[in-house]
Amino acid sequence: MTEDMIPVHERDPMPFECCSENPCFNDCCRDLNQALTPYDILRLKRNLGISSQVFLKRYTSFHFGPNSGLPIVAFKLDPATGYECPFVTPKGCSVYADRPGSCRLYPLARAIAMDRETKEINEYFALIEEPHCKGFGKKTNLTVREWMDGQEVALHNLHNDKLMELISLKNRILPGKLDGAQSDQVYLALYDLDEFRYRIFERGILKNFNLADSRLQTLKIDDEALMDFGIAWVKNMLFGIELYIKE
Ligand code: SF4
Ligand code: SF4
Repeated sequence: MTEDMIPVHERDPMPFECCSENPCFNDCCRDLNQALTPYDILRLKRNLGISSQVFLKRYTSFHFGPNSGLPIVAFKLDPATGYECPFVTPKGCSVYADRPGSCRLYPLARAIAMDRETKEINEYFALIEEPHCKGFGKKTNLTVREWMDGQEVALHNLHNDKLMELISLKNRILPGKLDGAQSDQVYLALYDLDEFRYRIFERGILKNFNLADSRLQTLKIDDEALMDFGIAWVKNMLFGIELYIKE
């Protein structure tokens, strides 16, 4: 953790309050350098009622990590606007109900360590005290955990932790840079869910896996199930981990 990050425990008081009356209102939505997770994209594209292809093209840029080959997706930012988020408005966030996990957690940072045997996840938190943010020093009577509950970040953490497990597996089993085809598979199955769905149902990319009809039906209509399946498919493609084929 860097010097301006103060480690906190979830039972510690949360001396922070963000509100539209703060003079810094919306400042945290400018000058962004924010990676988006697959679940962030799922929620945002659904909020906007558009496909993942359209969302990714219109609102994001991406590159493959130079050392890992893993996709890194971020908001497409315009220097002319001060690198502001495409969804910030004078009244605040226009996609508030489906804002990314990192927006919900700010100014907290969260790190996890997963026990390889039990899969138990230990969480670690730190407050990032940036000079532009004037929400600090407010008495709220909330603990860090209660404040996080108010941000409804648990579902994001749950899904994002699956991505972290995949990245950690990749670093262990397949260190170094993925080849181009592998990087494309990861991008497709995790980030471009509607294209993944199209390739499953119109291009037959799963025809060798003999999936049960009921599971296929679920993948057709359930974005979260498709994203989970995408992670399992990537584990199969990259590491040879057997893809579950039963209900
Ligand atoms: S998604 Fe909303 S909260 Fe997050 S940076 Fe954009 S405007 Fe701000
Ligand atoms: S800079 Fe801090 S206090 Fe100000 S709007 Fe953003 S999170 Fe809230």
